[in-house]
Amino acid sequence: MEVVFSDVFVKSLKKHSSIKDAIKKKVDMIIGKPIAIGEPLKGNFRGYYSCPVKKKFLIIYMYCKVCRVKGDDKIVLCSDCNKCADETIKFVDIGPHDKTYEKKSKYGTFIG
Ligand SMILES: [Zn+2]
Repeated sequence: MEVVFSDVFVKSLKKHSSIKDAIKKKVDMIIGKPIAIGEPLKGNFRGYYSCPVKKKFLIIYMYCKVCRVKGDDKIVLCSDCNKCADETIKFVDIGPHDKTYEKKSKYGTFIG
């Protein structure tokens, strides 16, 4: 499994360092079984998966294997999708439920 962390994700991880261990644990679980553990997002967030670290605190990620099969790479603008192995997970962001969703436009710096 290839694993990529966005700048936004790394910054958020520093910001939420008090629960860093819980986040890392969850990241490992996601890498182990990205589809089983995550919730596919819909609407504006189609193509992304989310997984709660704790209540209302989410990890947002993409899984390129699914991304491509569903054509989601065109929606989330996973522009380097064709350069990635099927088994690539891109960790996009972490944070409180509502704020994380508001930040979507920022993901472009990583994905687009
Ligand atoms: Zn992709």
